[in-house]
Amino acid sequence: MEPRDGFRDECGVFGIADCEDAANIAYLGLYALQHRGQESAGIATLSEGRIVVEREMGYVADVFDEARLSRLPGRTAIGHVRYSTAGGSHLANAQPIVFATGRGPLALAHNGNLVNAREIRAKLEASGALFTTTSDSEVILHLVARSKAPDLPTALAEALLEVRGAYSILVLARDGIFAARDPNGIRPLSLGTREGSPVVASETCAFDLIGAKFERDVEPGEIVRLSREGLSARRFAIANSTPCIFEHVYFARPDSKVFGRSVAATREAFGARLAREHPADADVVVPVPDSGMYAALGYARESRIPFALGMVRNHYVGRTFIEPKHSIRHFGVKVKLNPVREVVEGKRIVLVDDSIVRGTTSRKIIRMLREAGVGEVHMRVSSPPTVASCHYGIDTPTRQELIGASQSVEEIRRFIDADSLGYLSADGMLEAFGRPMQATCTACFTGRYPVEVPEEELEKEGAISR
Ligand code: AMP
Repeated sequence: MEPRDGFRDECGVFGIADCEDAANIAYLGLYALQHRGQESAGIATLSEGRIVVEREMGYVADVFDEARLSRLPGRTAIGHVRYSTAGGSHLANAQPIVFATGRGPLALAHNGNLVNAREIRAKLEASGALFTTTSDSEVILHLVARSKAPDLPTALAEALLEVRGAYSILVLARDGIFAARDPNGIRPLSLGTREGSPVVASETCAFDLIGAKFERDVEPGEIVRLSREGLSARRFAIANSTPCIFEHVYFARPDSKVFGRSVAATREAFGARLAREHPADADVVVPVPDSGMYAALGYARESRIPFALGMVRNHYVGRTFIEPKHSIRHFGVKVKLNPVREVVEGKRIVLVDDSIVRGTTSRKIIRMLREAGVGEVHMRVSSPPTVASCHYGIDTPTRQELIGASQSVEEIRRFIDADSLGYLSADGMLEAFGRPMQATCTACFTGRYPVEVPEEELEKEGAISR
């Protein structure tokens, strides 16, 4: 994939306050969030008023070992996993970012993407600010550091009122962890407790691993302090909740509860709805593993067509979508997925995946299935056509690369060489999600951005041409 925009990333965040072995718990938490970012991992801890950080490019398991974790003393920790597009993929951009400020040391971990970061950064640079990363997240710390507010939570609230876009952030400071979510609550952020210690994570699957109990989500427009005294919350903006539906379609882990809903249950509901909207005369329902698994289960249950595992995924390969080069990506699908000939040969199959982005994955898969002797392939997609790029922190190609942005369903069917193709409708998806369009971010499927995206950002990805 060509470098596109250093200001866009997929991430996961984790934090725990007042706990023995905080770094070790953060390590486990990040392990559970690895699917949210595979390029770099980092943990920062607070020890005797100082912040220590260890960050590196790579998977959590490769970045941290016992020796490295032992260099992270202290009872409070935050952690981050990150995937960015090629342009911004280097160690300097790995998080947490740490700054010495007049308010003491601060560390920041951010999931999401700010749409006005360039503009703010340009202003700050014009007044002499020196940036150490090319990441959008850094502007938040600069704004906090410059604020004249009497205390840190007020300074943070002021900074957050200046930035726009999606942010679920953790700020580690001397008086604890401050967790905040943008007023639209686009990315998830959940609170829990583990043996009396407050914890926070992008997804609840991290709580399951460390034996924490889910308490509640951080509310959109809320800042919550996690410390020895437990949780204390304040609101910095009026909530206008529009959570990202793509978290439920693809991004989050199915064993998580995101925005108060089970991801697995939502995906099954998408699949059931898809079966009603686009029935097929077929022998078996086959998921594209792992992303189509739960939707395929829902489809099979609703249609009463048997569910069959007709493809196997090699779990030791990274996500094909994020391989850096075109040539490697194409090869990657084959490395990752292989049909089970005995299951698909001579069969009419319903092939279920969560989304078609460029169309190259489906095309490759269908070619492999045909080589394995499949009878017919009826492709069903548990979301609408992807027509617009995400500006709020999910990696999506530019609009020109999105097959759904320029081609009809029939043209896409021909491109991927399916016998039939059906997408879940936007209305059907929202009905299964249980929220109306105006209370959901559906930008990638509808091009409606709940937080206005500046024209120069849209221009960059080709949504506007001049
Ligand atoms: P494509 O070949 O571009 O059509 O990719 C579609 C495949 O990528 C589907 O199997 C999706 O599950 C997966 N996918 C969709 N969005 C993303 C994303 N942001 N990151 C990684 N994989 C994705």
